[in-house]
Amino acid sequence: MTVQEPAAHAEPAGIRPAVRAVPAYPFTSIDVPIKLDQNESPYDFPEELKQEVYRRLAERDFNRYPDLHADALKHLIGRYEDWPHTGVVLTPGSNVLIKILTELAGIEQTVLTTNPTFSVYSLEAQLLDATLVQVPLNPDFSLPAAALKTELARHKPGVLAIAQPHAPTGHIDTDADLLELLEAARDWVVVIDEAYHQFSGTDRRDLVRRYPNALSLRTFSKAWGLAGIRAGYALAGPEVAENLQKLVSAFNVNVMTETVLEVALEHPEYMKARIEQCLRERARIQAALADHPNCQVLPSQANFFLMRTPNADLAYAHLLAHGIVTRRQDNLHMLQGCLRVAVGTPQENDRFIAAMKAFH
Ligand SMILES: *Cc1c(COP(=O)(O)O)cnc(C)c1O
Repeated sequence: MTVQEPAAHAEPAGIRPAVRAVPAYPFTSIDVPIKLDQNESPYDFPEELKQEVYRRLAERDFNRYPDLHADALKHLIGRYEDWPHTGVVLTPGSNVLIKILTELAGIEQTVLTTNPTFSVYSLEAQLLDATLVQVPLNPDFSLPAAALKTELARHKPGVLAIAQPHAPTGHIDTDADLLELLEAARDWVVVIDEAYHQFSGTDRRDLVRRYPNALSLRTFSKAWGLAGIRAGYALAGPEVAENLQKLVSAFNVNVMTETVLEVALEHPEYMKARIEQCLRERARIQAALADHPNCQVLPSQANFFLMRTPNADLAYAHLLAHGIVTRRQDNLHMLQGCLRVAVGTPQENDRFIAAMKAFH
């Protein structure tokens, strides 16, 4: 059978210029033994919990649609987070929440964030043709509160997106700085992305309670070790949640994800035990490389850290030759020479430390 070639010059004229202008998400998967490039958990979901998932999945009907808005899970998450279930919005990964938050308050308006920032905020703003405004971080990576306030006053309200801990620096800001911004952003939807909050021990739910125009984004992809399951949620006030929910496609959380999350939320202790190990390992790596002449591990409150070297290209290739993949960040504002490295298992971290000690 021959496959018919598409007609030559079939220019898809209907594609919006904003979408054409944006390059595809820049990520290439590299198959090496030690994977420290995506800030994932180095540990899989515990085997006995997987077995429990398989038992429950066997009872599910795959021919039936799942819960329309994942209401049963919203109750479970609400109980776990001490948050009204009416303020929980669940999607396949918090990346989807960033897209629909941009639809909620960014389109034809403004997305304000920092530079550097988590790439998805700026990517969605560009794809959806929102006015994207990025303010450089302070030299110590703290939030440029005064400059952000200037931009808040200057632009049509929209989305203010801030990660805490910040990505990709791992910096955590003070409550006072965040309060100052929230006071100035009362007409904006303020996204506090807490993807890594278990590692910093911070929790901005109190701020969201005080400022109902704010919301906290959380994910099962990092501390919970469930990146493959695709689940994230927003904790918001009822009005933001109700409007955000309208933008979530129906039946967005499938029965497999639903079943895994049910089991995970019944056993959060597995996750908490891993956090402590990650923090010990982060400190151990930091100490082991403290006197290194050719690399500087930058402080971080997350399960990853930035490492600055005189030549990111060389450092990246050197680690790859040792079977370790990291993420280059040296193309980003203020991050010259930087790679981003996730904390791995103790054995992986040993290999990483040894490889870096051999980097001259
Ligand atoms: C990893 C990450 C997320 C999580 O994305 P998912 O779609 O839930 O996997 C969200 N925000 C930041 C800043 C992240 O680094």
